[in-house]
Amino acid sequence: MKPRYDFSGQTVFVSGGTSGINLGIAEAFVQAGARVAVMSRNPERVAAAQAQLARHGGAVMGLTGDVREPERVQQVLAEVHAAWGAIDVLVSGAAGNFLARALDLSPKGFKAVVDIDLMGTFHVLRAAHPFLRQPGASIINISAPQSYNPAPMQVHACAAKAGVDQVMRVLAMEWGADGIRVNSIVPGPVEGTTGLAKLASDQARAGMARRVPLGRLGRVQDIAAMALFLGSPDASYITGALIPVDGGISLLGARNHALDEEGAT
Ligand code: NAP
Repeated sequence: MKPRYDFSGQTVFVSGGTSGINLGIAEAFVQAGARVAVMSRNPERVAAAQAQLARHGGAVMGLTGDVREPERVQQVLAEVHAAWGAIDVLVSGAAGNFLARALDLSPKGFKAVVDIDLMGTFHVLRAAHPFLRQPGASIINISAPQSYNPAPMQVHACAAKAGVDQVMRVLAMEWGADGIRVNSIVPGPVEGTTGLAKLASDQARAGMARRVPLGRLGRVQDIAAMALFLGSPDASYITGALIPVDGGISLLGARNHALDEEGAT
């Protein structure tokens, strides 16, 4: 993506930043001149993401860590802060998901998604507070349409992402006085991502693309462009906002698009 913003000298941290949308966001910030640190669990994925980001020539750090472990999250953020100073933009994007009807979902399965998406977001944001630039930092949660559109076979993700957005709103209120902005991006279905492939077959994805008011699935770059905007001074009066970047698909309301195999509206 051609950078529209200059983040030179700024520090960006992306949890779950080693794959898909989050890696695309990390890459956009690297291309815009930022020092970028990404964290996820799998060491191979971390190494591959670091190598991909380093190709652009900026300062890049890849760290292993699980957002379910608050002590490790704290260590990782302290390491980034010690190396590069205050964090200007923090993206919380780690998530897990799968399709299951509520009656087929064990308490363990429900908890697994809540632990990563909701508890993980809380751990990252809470641990980050002392390391954030104050005033000036921008926190960006990566939410999902399940936050406000109930979708069958997604009770775990719906509950977790609704919680993520309430965390965002409360912290926007509590941390506004510190000069920290907190917002959520809500991507629609984004092509080429693991998250979408897990939820929707090729046929279902084609059906979704037809139903999106703008007539196509999202691209990683669509989401990255919003992240750059929210991290920039142009967004300095925006906090507590839930911003769909979804081609208008959320206007179609409560449903599970992955189940509409025929592509009929
Ligand atoms: P993805 O490719 O599956 O990437 C998920 C990332 O999170 C990976 O880097 C993964 O790496 C990391 N991760 C998972 N569990 C973690 C944990 N416990 N601790 C730390 N890192 C962890 O995801 P995606 O499909 O691009 O989605 C990215 C974000 O966008 C998610 O928040 C998702 O809910 C949201 N979203 C996606 C779509 C879509 O169409 N894909 C639509 C709406 C919203 P490791 O396995 O190495 O930990």
